[in-house]
Amino acid sequence: MKIIVQKFGGTSVASEEARVAVKNKVQQAIRNGYSPVVVVSAMGRKGAPYATDTLIGALKDVNLSVNVREMDMMMCCGEIISSCVMAATLQKFGINAMALTGGQAGIITDSQFGAARIKNINTSSLIRLLEAGIIPVVCGFQGMTENNYKFTTLGRGGSDTSAAALGAALKADFVEIYTDVEGIMTADPRIVEKANILQQISYAEVCQMAQNGAKVIHPRAVEIAMGSNIPMYVKSTFSDAPGTLITSERIGQGNGGEIAINESCASGVAHLNDLAQFRIDLNPQDITAGRNLFEDLADAGISVGCLNLSEKEAMFAVFSPDVEHTCKVLNESGFKYTLNEGCGKVSVVGSAMRGVPGIMATFVSALASHNIAILQTVDSDTTISAIVKEEHLVEAVKALHEAFKL
Ligand code: ADP
Ligand code: MG
Repeated sequence: MKIIVQKFGGTSVASEEARVAVKNKVQQAIRNGYSPVVVVSAMGRKGAPYATDTLIGALKDVNLSVNVREMDMMMCCGEIISSCVMAATLQKFGINAMALTGGQAGIITDSQFGAARIKNINTSSLIRLLEAGIIPVVCGFQGMTENNYKFTTLGRGGSDTSAAALGAALKADFVEIYTDVEGIMTADPRIVEKANILQQISYAEVCQMAQNGAKVIHPRAVEIAMGSNIPMYVKSTFSDAPGTLITSERIGQGNGGEIAINESCASGVAHLNDLAQFRIDLNPQDITAGRNLFEDLADAGISVGCLNLSEKEAMFAVFSPDVEHTCKVLNESGFKYTLNEGCGKVSVVGSAMRGVPGIMATFVSALASHNIAILQTVDSDTTISAIVKEEHLVEAVKALHEAFKL
């Protein structure tokens, strides 16, 4: 049996027309000799009647501080509705299909409601269905606790994670992530009109793009696929374009790869909104100051990014909702700081940038030539990022997209 996982996002199951397109993708996979496991998200985006945000709103209208257990159970309804409607659609076209909750599909999680981690997947029910020629239509984004059958959710973007985890557990040939764009693009197409579709990209690069704000796929899903070395495709439900293949190596031009991907050493530009930058004065005489600072922040459960630490100063960024809490921790510990709100982060990602001279110069001069002030940079092997004011973010993305010839 050649198993594949096909995951369909919110827009792919939102209308009857879209669901027929989904049916066609499933049918095509069967014709190609595969046994597909279908994973679905809730129908539609924000504002749609059964979308996750609508369900959250409906429960918060009743009680703002509702228990997390009930909130998770409420959120799971979106995917349950979607899987039933999708299974019914497939049945209507003569495809034997069955809707399954995450728990029924064997997805067991810990009990951290709202951000549960998958502990293991018992694939026996899914295998039995596939062997009987029945297409499982699994609710994405959800699982079940091991002993007490509570519904849990995996966090936003969790359906991608469900698909990757099922792919790994089932030793699938590959995992397909179907969405409303024709693949992973060199930048968010809502910002850069001329963004190009990448034919191929490495797990590590997609992970960096996703962690730096490219919402097309969840980074956790990529990590899971990478761990099991399962190829992933990002494709459109609404076209026959080949999509983007994600594998361990970046097949670039000039290194013997079969496909010439792009001439740039970068693969894409990503961006994140809604950040605040902190600059902390450190006493150069006190070498423990920096350590104490980051221990205090970690103890308070604040997630910090873009770390720069020197003898005299520490800089980092937090998401805007964490600003108040961060200030409180810094004040209590007696640190002097400057707060810069309304920031964003722009990142260029590309494993082929490693060790290439002049990359930083290209990055800096692209922003400088648009008079965009760099508040801070951070870089790793594969990624260069800058913190800029949020009002410059869109222009910064466009400038870097152009400068790196994406
Ligand atoms: P789904 O509901 O199918 O999971 P998402 O909204 O999660 O869809 O992801 C698809 C969207 O991601 C696209 O519509 C696109 O606007 C956005 N996006 C952001 N960055 C990128 C990128 N680099 N490449 C492709 N799409 C991107
Ligand atoms: Mg998504």
